[in-house]
Amino acid sequence: MDPLRHVKPAVRQIRAYTLAAREAPVKINQNENPWDLPEAVKRRVLDKALVRPWARYPDFDPRELTEALARFSGWSADGILAGNGSNELIEALLLVTVGPGTKVVIPEPTFTLYAHLTGILGGVAIRVPLGEDLRYDTTALVEARQRSGAAVTVVCSPNNPTGTSLARPDLERLCQAGDGLVVVDEAYHEFSGETAVPLLEKHPNLVILRTFSKAMALAGLRVGYLLSSPEIVGEVNKARLPYNVNFFTQAAAIAAIEEHAVLEEMVRRLVEERERLLARLEDLPGVRAWPSKANFFLLELLAASPKAVFESLYRRGVLVRDVTSYPMLSRCLRVSVGTPEENETFLHALGAALGEAGMNLSADTGRA
Ligand code: PMP
Repeated sequence: MDPLRHVKPAVRQIRAYTLAAREAPVKINQNENPWDLPEAVKRRVLDKALVRPWARYPDFDPRELTEALARFSGWSADGILAGNGSNELIEALLLVTVGPGTKVVIPEPTFTLYAHLTGILGGVAIRVPLGEDLRYDTTALVEARQRSGAAVTVVCSPNNPTGTSLARPDLERLCQAGDGLVVVDEAYHEFSGETAVPLLEKHPNLVILRTFSKAMALAGLRVGYLLSSPEIVGEVNKARLPYNVNFFTQAAAIAAIEEHAVLEEMVRRLVEERERLLARLEDLPGVRAWPSKANFFLLELLAASPKAVFESLYRRGVLVRDVTSYPMLSRCLRVSVGTPEENETFLHALGAALGEAGMNLSADTGRA
């Protein structure tokens, strides 16, 4: 008996997408909004849920949500698809485009789910390293796209975990270099003030993905949306599972849209905090904090071991993301921007962690 032999070899080869379960008083490892929606808004959603029968399915087409998303994003409702987190839409999009041997151009390092799902579907990830200063190398992306005849090219803008973004003229170059889909993952767009939505009209191969998990403060309820031409949306919709967005999440997403002024203020403060943190870290010896357009940034440890600093921060109650296994980032941790208080705790813990690591370094090298 070897039932496992029936699992696709491409799947047997890869490891599951996971995140080690760790908790900490200062949790700045998942790029979430450190503030929540106001309690009054949460109660409004709860009240709505209480009068609705839970035994009944949600709407087959979450029309009220899609129409709210259309007004919110400035794109037409028939070009919008809501999902159970943007992850689900990444999956649906790749399901309808990728089969054995399909080429998908994926910069690296980037959000790992794209290459992971491409592998599961039997596709081939054509990896294009980021260029100088971890910026997108548009020429290399265009070349890879054309040479491989890629069905899909993925660009996260701002990119996770580097915080770098793709300028609009570069994106247009990518869209024009062939008819393969160009997916712009805008999970963090609110923190950059940039969006590709105005290009949708002009580029029928452009697909934009957005999420409510970051700036919109709804990671726990799972909602994301895809924007593209109605034709592409119609095709991706075929791979969407029925009733994928539950009624509670639909109501919460609509409430978050109604409260967008509150959320925009949070985004403004987070961007301010990001810049304050980066400025403070400029003066700290032994680290380089990379500029970022998102609600996180890379912290490069110039001498100390990043893993040792990660553990040392954790012992001090601060949980960041270890990204040392990503290509090019073997000396880096990823730090999400938290509340001002959390950021102070982080800075303080980092100072102590670096001091501790420095002592270990001198012990290792036998220097005083
Ligand atoms: N895209 C990017 C670039 C991300 O960083 C993340 C979350 N880490 C996602 C998509 C997934 O977000 P969601 O919670 O909407 O599934």
